[in-house]
Amino acid sequence: MTSQNPAANFVKQEVWEKDRDHFVHPWTDFSTFKESGSMVFQQADGVSVQDADGKRYLDGIGGLWCVNIGYGRDEIAEAVAEQIRAIPYFSTFGHHTTAPAARLAAKLAELAPGDLNHVFYGCGGSVANDTAVRLIHFYFNQLGKTSKKQIISRIDGYHGSTYMAMSITGVQFDHIGFDVERQLVHHISCPNPYRRPEEQSLEAFCDEKVQELEDKILELGPDNVAAFFAEPIMGAGGVIVPPPGYHQKTLAVCRKYDVLYVSDEVVTAFGRLGHMFASEDEFGIVPDIITCAKGLTSGYLPLGATIFSDRIYDVISKPQADGALFTHGFTYSGHPVSCAAGLKNIEIMEREGICDHVQDVGAYFEQRLHELKALPIIGDVRGRKFMMCLESVADKTTKELIAPEAKIGNRIADECQQRGLIVRPLAHMNILSPTLILSRQDVDFVVETLRESIEAATESLK
Ligand code: PLP
Repeated sequence: MTSQNPAANFVKQEVWEKDRDHFVHPWTDFSTFKESGSMVFQQADGVSVQDADGKRYLDGIGGLWCVNIGYGRDEIAEAVAEQIRAIPYFSTFGHHTTAPAARLAAKLAELAPGDLNHVFYGCGGSVANDTAVRLIHFYFNQLGKTSKKQIISRIDGYHGSTYMAMSITGVQFDHIGFDVERQLVHHISCPNPYRRPEEQSLEAFCDEKVQELEDKILELGPDNVAAFFAEPIMGAGGVIVPPPGYHQKTLAVCRKYDVLYVSDEVVTAFGRLGHMFASEDEFGIVPDIITCAKGLTSGYLPLGATIFSDRIYDVISKPQADGALFTHGFTYSGHPVSCAAGLKNIEIMEREGICDHVQDVGAYFEQRLHELKALPIIGDVRGRKFMMCLESVADKTTKELIAPEAKIGNRIADECQQRGLIVRPLAHMNILSPTLILSRQDVDFVVETLRESIEAATESLK
């Protein structure tokens, strides 16, 4: 914690102490936090962030899979300031609106696949998923199908941290020590091709997972099942790309039993895979509902959206006299300043051809990361474009894991950090989800830094 400038040191110490003593951080081991506190970041531009000592790091995680267009965009700062000066807030309950909220909704309807033309706003991904559940229940109630309530999702799926979104989440670790809703939510297994039995073909593996969904619907009774939630590529569960055809086949099963398909695109939308939305363009499906957040504003301001079909809108928009009012909404639904940031973000993405850039440089990133599979502890390199994961193992043949106490993911992340690269540790894995403006040169830096860091971490295990 030293710097040449005593005033800077004083501020850093002050922030560090206040943070340690009062700010309760998400997903943090408080026992170690009480001693070591936080690393303080103070500036960012382009693909990099700077800590309070002025040391630069290439941000290999895009904030938290969200800073898609990179840092330091004056245009967003200006659009936000302009909106604050014009009208910083007004309620959107009932028949009131503002220009950014209306324009962004129309833009999302234009970009979303199929007839997903209707947008409900919240402040993030968890709330977008909670909104989807309330919307789905209301929809079936309006149709008189009042028993259709059950939700199916997958082990290792991540859908957020509100009570319902966390219940839909299937990452077992995240449930430890907490209570979750068990009456309404059911998990089927994770379609992780890396962990399938050695002798099983990808096709057979896929069919088995799809069958599991159908079996679960039949077990619960189709009249009781409302929806299936799935990320196109599971993110926080370890960047799991399902076997080819999985999404199309699970959608077909859902259609067969009148089960709504919710595609959680909180991570995958807005360019991360080289498309504005991945459901149709990457996986060939048009779901009933898409939830999104993060890259919607590139993390510049909080915003989430639940985008749904004409078919659902037609039912929930029946006259109040014939049914109930859709009593759902938040003070900040359609917040004009967040929506202004979202509109400018999408404008920048389109103008700069960010999706094309991701198709090109993201493919190079994928290809170069796959070279790391030659290292003795790297069992799997997976993901697509700018959504990637390295899985470390003790034995590449048996895929046996390195003992959890070794904290291999943390060791690799620490080594990277010393070398000026931030990657995310996740148990024995490391996640890479950088800003989408990485150059080929940046990609080379990331891959070579990872290589050195993995070698150093492997050495430290001895
Ligand atoms: N869904 C997915 C796929 C996510 O990855 C996340 C967060 O990482 C969420 C939902 C929850 O979003 P938020 O943290 O904005 O509530």
